[in-house]
Amino acid sequence: MRVVLVGPPGAGKGTQAQFIASHLSIPKISTGDIFRHNVSTGTELGKQARAYMERGDLVPDEVTIAMVEARLAEDDAQAGFLLDGYPRNLPQAETLRKLLAEWDTRLDIVLELVVDDDEVVRRLSGRRTCRRCGRIWHVLFEPPAREGRCDDCGGELFQRDDDSELTIRHRLEVYAKQTQPLIAFYADEGILLGIDATGPVEEITARAMAALRRFLL
Ligand code: AMP
Repeated sequence: MRVVLVGPPGAGKGTQAQFIASHLSIPKISTGDIFRHNVSTGTELGKQARAYMERGDLVPDEVTIAMVEARLAEDDAQAGFLLDGYPRNLPQAETLRKLLAEWDTRLDIVLELVVDDDEVVRRLSGRRTCRRCGRIWHVLFEPPAREGRCDDCGGELFQRDDDSELTIRHRLEVYAKQTQPLIAFYADEGILLGIDATGPVEEITARAMAALRRFLL
């Protein structure tokens, strides 16, 4: 199964992507995670992406598209994948469609996580990530037992540079301008499914899985 998750920053794509991919036994491919890993390990790709990410802008298409195409060509993605954070604009969506067509395949479904801007700011400004295992916490909604430490592995929690309120607002503008047009693009193809992404995490996952099952029947 080939799935794309789309939604504004803070819609919970990363969290849901993890659950859905594991339910479906397909790899989760998150462009944000791949970029962050490259930034923290200081690779050439990380150097190219860093400034854009800090501002909350999209990394240029030529860099992003080449990275995703290489990832999708790996063995574990041949039987299906879940893309989280890609595509983010129409050129990326069009090149993805072309690439899959060359491989005689196509996307099965695009799942849109729907949530409003104020909720996004509330969520993202309290988000903390574990430096060691990557688990996401929230200072209000899902606080760890010990402040600043991950309950799962004891790792240090940090706030992403792009999770300050000003950058969040900018990322929302970028989403509205560049990513929102994908909703109509995939609705035209008849593969778009929107779900309400507010409420407890498990309920959103249940909604997502129910939508995926309905769509596949
Ligand atoms: P995310 O974790 O998905 O919010 O992504 C974090 C940052 O990585 C974004 O704000 C962009 O700077 C960059 N990024 C992630 N995915 C893409 C993409 N498909 N195209 C361009 N930039 C991206």
